[in-house]
Amino acid sequence: MVEKLEKIWMDGRFVDWDDANIHILTHTLHYGLGAFEGIRCYLCDDGSSAIFKLKEHVDRFFNSAHIGQIDIPFSKEEITNAIIETIKINGLKESYIRPIVFIGDGAMGIHPQDNPIRVAIAVWQWGAYLGDDGLKNGIRVKTSSFTRHHVNIMMTKAKICGNYVNSVLAKREVVQDGYDEAVILDTEGYVCEATGENIFITQKGDLKTPPLTSVLPGITRESVISIALDRGIRVIEERFTRDELYVADEAFFTGTAAEITPIRQVDNRSIGNGKPGEITQTLQNIFFDIIRGKQEKYKKWLTYI
Ligand SMILES: *Cc1c(COP(=O)(O)O)cnc(C)c1O
Repeated sequence: MVEKLEKIWMDGRFVDWDDANIHILTHTLHYGLGAFEGIRCYLCDDGSSAIFKLKEHVDRFFNSAHIGQIDIPFSKEEITNAIIETIKINGLKESYIRPIVFIGDGAMGIHPQDNPIRVAIAVWQWGAYLGDDGLKNGIRVKTSSFTRHHVNIMMTKAKICGNYVNSVLAKREVVQDGYDEAVILDTEGYVCEATGENIFITQKGDLKTPPLTSVLPGITRESVISIALDRGIRVIEERFTRDELYVADEAFFTGTAAEITPIRQVDNRSIGNGKPGEITQTLQNIFFDIIRGKQEKYKKWLTYI
């Protein structure tokens, strides 16, 4: 359950949490064309709060909308400020931030014509998305029976609302079977990503992750690649199969919500020795130091509020 806070930013102004409502004929509710972001703000070691890679998230929000031919009626600067103000007004030191742009009510039917474009920003408190134990000891995942989007059916570079029907189906299926998360294969059967995370494996000290061709360009993915390269770890962006995943030395997911979550088992086969591996833990430690403002070199990734 999301714990109720004070205010939500809607179409340029703050409204009370309970008043952030929409009409039942909201176009996006029926047909799924809208776009969202997932951003995190962390409490730093010095007591301040900082948003991780805010510019990258705002840029991707606008890209997602552009791909969906949705004109956000605010500038990037306005959205950036609104995100910061929403955190401040709710008095949170640490939060998950969810901007969403959607097509409002007006015309019904598939073609939205001149329906208003609406934007909202909500924040809430969110701990480890895949659980504290998962973050520490790794999670158990299962290959989904659902295939990830074909690049010409859904737009895979955008966090478009409707894209997540596939994610919800995949997630539900594996959770009902007792697993923590789903690995989803692409239309050709190669490992693609998870329901809201990118995937990495390690092989003999190298990192490997599927290329961006049909996956969401994760900001955590990009950060992990930079951190790895800075430490002299080779990064290979190449497709791999599910059995290559089974025999990987280590595996982990990355995402704003999931952060860096180790994978300890895939389809009932343990990965490595069944515990988070050395490279995974190293990357995790550096990542958590970065977001807490403890790594001078990466402070440029933080927007202090
Ligand atoms: C958001 C998301 C990711 C992770 O992206 P981040 O920018 O790291 O949060 C990966 N895959 C999908 C499908 C996503 O929606």
